[in-house]
Amino acid sequence: MGETSLRELLGVKPGPVDLRTIDTRATPGDPGGKEKATAAREQTGRALADLQEQMFAMAAVEDSPKRLLLVLQGMDASGKDGAIKRGLGGMNPKWMHVKGFEAPTEEEARHHFLWRIRREVPAPGIVGVFDRSHYEDVLVVRVYSLVPEDVWQPRFEEINAFERELADDGVAIVKVFLHISRDYQLERQIRRLERVDKRWKFNEADIDDREHWDEFRTAYEEVFERCNTPWAPWYIVPADRKWYRMWAVSQLVKETLEGMRLHSPERRELDIPRLLERLRDS
Ligand code: AMP
Ligand code: MG
Repeated sequence: MGETSLRELLGVKPGPVDLRTIDTRATPGDPGGKEKATAAREQTGRALADLQEQMFAMAAVEDSPKRLLLVLQGMDASGKDGAIKRGLGGMNPKWMHVKGFEAPTEEEARHHFLWRIRREVPAPGIVGVFDRSHYEDVLVVRVYSLVPEDVWQPRFEEINAFERELADDGVAIVKVFLHISRDYQLERQIRRLERVDKRWKFNEADIDDREHWDEFRTAYEEVFERCNTPWAPWYIVPADRKWYRMWAVSQLVKETLEGMRLHSPERRELDIPRLLERLRDS
């Protein structure tokens, strides 16, 4: 990256958001095309691994509460799986907690919408990833009127308060929307039906979602207007190009970790010369 951070380039600005004015094929901050972005992503992956290790070490040695939570949202086929696999590919799965949120189970539906979310918040030192999230409760739930408006409307503020609470507990929150076009989705969904190795992902309900595209769009726009906070910012990643979206996710996570002022615990209590001597003699 040059001087402007990707967080600045892709961060949602205050005020109304019109997703139709954001080109899904754009590549802001792109390091120079597909090949260079792929190489850059591999390098970023190594940096991510180092930062992740520091964060875990700080929790283990210093009782640091710091952790990271990446929230991924996007329409079906927007590339959330690939963003996890490739965007965070350099990280050690041992210190990660990845959770996909589907339609609530019977038990989950009996609780407050944040109940199942709170249970999956990463522990100190851990990199958490939500593949879909509490935002579904003001997105899909709103589009299909799964609860009345007087129930979902207050959720924007509840979400802000919840995320504030997490931030105060040491959680660095990065929220990424993978922004694809309806045409790109069609292409991907057709391929999903045609390719036997991808067919398992096909879900007819995703066609219903396509038919409510504009309602999802306006629901997302309201999320970006109302839930983009200093403690839990939203980033809109143009996502019709696979190489760009995977690079962008890795870069946004790296910049966030870099902003957390992590370090390797020094362990001053260790008498290094004595331990080295003992090791050599052992
Ligand atoms: P996938 O991301 O392909 O595994 O699909 C998960 C599905 O679960 C999507 O269609 C989401 O819209 C749906 N989903 C996730 N959270 C909720 C929720 N709170 N209420 C209803 N549907 C949800
Ligand atoms: Mg799906």
